[in-house]
Amino acid sequence: MSAVQLPGAPELHYRGDSLHVEEVALADLARQHGTPLFVYSRASMLAALAAYQRGFAGRKARIFYALKANSSLAILQVFARAGCGFDIVSGGELERVLAAGGRGSDIIFSGVGKTPGEMHRALDIGIHCFNVESEAELEVLSEVAVQAGTRAPVSLRVNPDVNPLTHPYISTGLKGSKFGIAHKNALRAYQRAASLPGLRVIGIDCHIGSQITHVGPYLDALDRMLDLVTAIEAAGIPIAHIDLGGGLGIVYNEEQPPPADALWQRLLARLDARGFGDRQLMIEPGRSLVGNAGVCVTEVLYVKPGEQKNFCVVDAAMNDLPRPAMYEAYHQIVPVRQTTLAPVVYDVVGPVCESGDWLGRDRKLAARSGDLLAVLSAGAYCMSMASNYNTRGRAAEVLVDGAQVHLIRKREDVAEMLRSELLLP
Ligand SMILES: *Cc1c(COP(=O)(O)O)cnc(C)c1O
Repeated sequence: MSAVQLPGAPELHYRGDSLHVEEVALADLARQHGTPLFVYSRASMLAALAAYQRGFAGRKARIFYALKANSSLAILQVFARAGCGFDIVSGGELERVLAAGGRGSDIIFSGVGKTPGEMHRALDIGIHCFNVESEAELEVLSEVAVQAGTRAPVSLRVNPDVNPLTHPYISTGLKGSKFGIAHKNALRAYQRAASLPGLRVIGIDCHIGSQITHVGPYLDALDRMLDLVTAIEAAGIPIAHIDLGGGLGIVYNEEQPPPADALWQRLLARLDARGFGDRQLMIEPGRSLVGNAGVCVTEVLYVKPGEQKNFCVVDAAMNDLPRPAMYEAYHQIVPVRQTTLAPVVYDVVGPVCESGDWLGRDRKLAARSGDLLAVLSAGAYCMSMASNYNTRGRAAEVLVDGAQVHLIRKREDVAEMLRSELLLP
């Protein structure tokens, strides 16, 4: 049997010819729960978290899981029980954190378009910090807080103008990005924040992009942030915490991102060298905590030889796995049962009526109708971005913990999809 290289997924392995997550065979899960099916390894998530925890050992630091990467309630429970806080970007995500057992004081609120209603609710539950992204937002937040008879704890998201060397759609810290407050306007914005009656300045933050695989952009961003902290404090505004956002990349194919502990060794050395080593640190990782902890199991419906290409049509599609269509992203695709059949080169595509509905191009696979394939590195930005396009119900999800299997999301049925729609009289 040919050895398949499985990227960055510690709990994914072949036992004999059968692909397992921890102690559980994916073929058994597919038989029991149907396909497409997301399968997550709890141990993989905790191992990814442990790399950050090792990196921060002995420091004043807190990890806030950015739940837009995967906001399923049971996944939030795993991180809440492990002591993580949460970085939210909407009122809906706020309610998810509470439903999963998180507390207001565990939450920081990012995003360029917070509504007064969302601010009100966040103040009500006592959130830890608002990461404010514009001067206009400062004004509105202050008004909402004054009305509520309180002061909102704020950090300003600064745009450090560094290139994260990643896909343009997931670069967020460059000039011309909609995110954050321009570095050159940041001091003025802090002075404004400090003068408003409803605000309490507590920190500074940035988030330069996602799927970052180099240390350099992080070091550059850190330097730019520390320059600002010096200037802001010189203006008489103390900065209690420094939040460097998320963004660390994972292995989808042949990327070589630094491990989280190695990245933080470098960043902490720079913080120490510049005299900021005892500051409260915060980070907001998403993808790097869950991305390689999940796979999507899908069944081959048809193999379709073409004039120029062969197509392998599977039952998962762009509504389940949107990253290839959105970013031309690569996910490794491997057989759930290895065979000795000769492989053929296929485009692996879904049933959705869009040419953009592909999961992998030019993949060598031995696939017949009824076979199962696993789309790897599907733990982040897959289910949380899933849609009902083509009136396809969203997939089911299971969490594997050793030999135990927990169904954490039922497959969405048609009745659920139609529930909120109204017929004309
Ligand atoms: C998306 C996001 C994150 C998480 O990014 P990852 O690349 O998944 O680590 C963190 N902070 C903010 C503000 C975000 O928007």
